[in-house]
Amino acid sequence: MPETGSPPGTDDTPAPCGRFAPSPTGPLHFGSLVSAVASLLQARRRGGRWLVRIEDLDPPREVPGAADAILAALDHHGLAWDGPVLYQSTREDAYLDALERLAAAGLTYRCTCSRKVIARVAAAGIAGPIYPGTCRRKPPPAGRRSAIRLRVPAGIVAVSDGHFGRLELDVAGEIGDFVLRRADGLFAYQLAVVIDDADQAVSEVVRGSDLLDLTPAQICLQRLLGFAVPAYLHHPVVTGPDGNKLSKQTGARGLDDGDPRPNLVAALAFLGQDPPEALRAASLDELWRWAIARWDPRRMPGRRDAPAPPRYEM
Ligand code: GLU
Ligand code: ZN
Repeated sequence: MPETGSPPGTDDTPAPCGRFAPSPTGPLHFGSLVSAVASLLQARRRGGRWLVRIEDLDPPREVPGAADAILAALDHHGLAWDGPVLYQSTREDAYLDALERLAAAGLTYRCTCSRKVIARVAAAGIAGPIYPGTCRRKPPPAGRRSAIRLRVPAGIVAVSDGHFGRLELDVAGEIGDFVLRRADGLFAYQLAVVIDDADQAVSEVVRGSDLLDLTPAQICLQRLLGFAVPAYLHHPVVTGPDGNKLSKQTGARGLDDGDPRPNLVAALAFLGQDPPEALRAASLDELWRWAIARWDPRRMPGRRDAPAPPRYEM
């Protein structure tokens, strides 16, 4: 065993399970490659499993062929996942089940407020407008098309993030009663991610720091549903020349299908693992062996008290 990195699990702790959960809104770009690499390394470093889940919950935002293109790009870069890929579009029954459980416990309510009305009356929060609870106090008439919201319990929810440290959030006050199912029938990311991470027995969620602020809301839902809370490790996100997160929706370029090694070396460099130049000439197998043995998330840049990571030039 190399000396660096976190200690491997002991015999009585189950092997960890990580996942990469892209939304099929475009091809795999450098920012999502970084997420895929970090989540794979964090799981494999300790001999764990690594799953891929396609978060195809929102058909209007999806790009035809993107899911297959993402899987092909992962494969091309030697990111080999365990088991079958899970598609959220096949998970309606599980989401309905959880909604029913929450409803039976009196933890949800119907909401008919339009986006426009909410924008007018709600204060701005860290994850969009903070819903003021209008329909919680005055239930809308039966039969009207409605969203389902969670009655978020009062209190502080804390996350111990493996990279960014402890974060405390008053979810009810700062996010508010968030939507679990939209009025158009689509399930919300917050509900789906929590149910799927639990059903897939994901023990550590590794993803970009843009999702850090939503984590307490997810933990709140995990507790209400009686799920184990996984460990969380958020990595710094890759930003473009404009300083914003690289994202598929804003047209970040997909990775090409040429030599995958320079992309992987760049991802490892972004994650602070100091890959040697020689790795570009190694075989893909050797490159991955090096990366797994080397992986130590403590090398990642961008802790809250440290300088920002370098920008990626598209
Ligand atoms: N599907 C989300 C995205 O592509 C990631 C969700 C997660 O990792 O929890 O941004
Ligand atoms: Zn409402």
